Amino acid sequence: MHPQSPLMGQMMNQPLLVSGILEFAARHYGSSEIVSRRVEGDLHRYTMRECHQRARRLANALHALGVRMGERVATLAWNGYRHLEAYYGVSGSGAVLHTMNPRLHAEQLAYICNHAEDQFLMFDVCFLPLVEAFAPHCTTIKGYILMGSAAQMPAHTSIDNLLCYEELINAHSDDFQWPQFDENAACTLCYTSGTTGNPKGVLYSHRSTVLHAYASALPNVLNVSSRDTVMPVVPMFHVNAWGLPYSVPLSGAKMVFPGAALDGKSVYELMESEGVTFSAGVPTVWLGLLNYATEHGLKFSTFRRTVIGGSACPPAMMNTLIDQFGVEVIHGWGMTEMSPLGTTGGLLSKHLKLSREEQRKILQKQGHAIYGVDMKIVDDDGKELPWDGVSYGHLMVRGPWIVARYFKDEGGDVLQDGWFPTGDVSTIDADGFMQITDRSKDVIKSGGEWIGTIDLENIAMAHTAVLQAACIGVPHPKWDERPLLVVVRRPGQTLEREQLLAHFEGKVAKWWLPDDVVFAETLPVGGTGKIQKNRLREQYRQHLLK
Ligand code: AMP
Repeated sequence: MHPQSPLMGQMMNQPLLVSGILEFAARHYGSSEIVSRRVEGDLHRYTMRECHQRARRLANALHALGVRMGERVATLAWNGYRHLEAYYGVSGSGAVLHTMNPRLHAEQLAYICNHAEDQFLMFDVCFLPLVEAFAPHCTTIKGYILMGSAAQMPAHTSIDNLLCYEELINAHSDDFQWPQFDENAACTLCYTSGTTGNPKGVLYSHRSTVLHAYASALPNVLNVSSRDTVMPVVPMFHVNAWGLPYSVPLSGAKMVFPGAALDGKSVYELMESEGVTFSAGVPTVWLGLLNYATEHGLKFSTFRRTVIGGSACPPAMMNTLIDQFGVEVIHGWGMTEMSPLGTTGGLLSKHLKLSREEQRKILQKQGHAIYGVDMKIVDDDGKELPWDGVSYGHLMVRGPWIVARYFKDEGGDVLQDGWFPTGDVSTIDADGFMQITDRSKDVIKSGGEWIGTIDLENIAMAHTAVLQAACIGVPHPKWDERPLLVVVRRPGQTLEREQLLAHFEGKVAKWWLPDDVVFAETLPVGGTGKIQKNRLREQYRQHLLK
């Protein structure tokens, strides 16, 4: 029987709004602590309840400044309590929080600000010189808010209409009712890193953000609970710190924000002093932390679990974390266009009887789709490929927290038959575990065959003398492209080209072997901590043609 219209359910139709998360957290986990390393250097601590009060003061202040529904308010800030207040104060009141990456150049920031038509910009005191540099080029900003106290306001500045955050919110009461509106309304705006062309804006909705927060806290995903102390090392300007500013309050956990101090020593000391149990970040951050802990013979007393993503977690790093430090590693994959979480790694019960090596192979995959994310792999003609763990193709995704179009329709129609093309190349095995072979822009096309660079980098990084490695395709007279390995040695270690190439033998097919190795002091890293392979390709374009 096919009824004309379905029988409707009779449950309350309450919109999913992010203000509800903080309201819930303050009411049910009001005493959960939020500890922040301020850019001034000291530690600030307060509770979820106080965060809720101050977020409501901010909402009143923004209203008094004339900020209305849907208008954009930008932030340029490290991870900290004032930034968290902005997450809720701005979005909760119906305006849109636009988090900007302070590692971008002044011209890029001005472009993004103008494109977003930001009305106000809130920034950490350390970014004053940067804001002074691009503010003259911002055409829509009515006022700038320095996220600090009156004592931190500069005596002289070229910025017109500079307001003080603490004065502003102290001038307003916390008597504010979060407005109720359509859950599909815009909540936050984040621009893609834009390695080619101009950055594009991804406009998350309240609904997509709340659903992503629910899903990401699940046991098979980040497994956040009220007994955790969570330190988001991943910045709040990098895809909403992977949703942690939402999933942690709804779980009632304690939060620890590292501010600008992201070096190994500072992160280690804060983890120890605050009892951090769970953290999240890109591999380059963990490199600093692990080097520091190893050099000083330190162990973690409370740190038990971490999610690593943003780029592939090198197996050597995963092994060190698990074997040397007893830290469980969850390999996560996602992208700005996916809010960002798409898959997370982990073992199924049937994997528990496998050997350690076999288990590691599974953990190193980018993992299983999170409920809410559907994925498939297709060939160049769009034909779906089997889930056999061997066939690789373009990874396509769809789901309620995945972008449907970019802000202001930049780039036109992005979906293909309702699926978002991720630009990643991957396999999916029979159990649904996805493994990224490469970014399609990075994959090396040698004599018509594909060579995945992540595998080659992982092998290089398993060598004890290698600190970092990037594999790139460079033009070759006969094969179109061949792999070139760019390597940073560990301090004090000697390593020659032949020794490293010998280390590859037996680990990959002969034709996958890098044609050459160059040693560098550092690798170029972009605003979100990823190695910029496009810059390396430019630098070494002539390397095999000489
Ligand atoms: P972004 O939007 O800047 O976060 O970049 C998203 C891209 O980062 C993805 O499309 C992948 O190419 C890459 N990425 C993210 N997580 C991983 C991972 N665990 N392994 C490999 N690549 C990753």
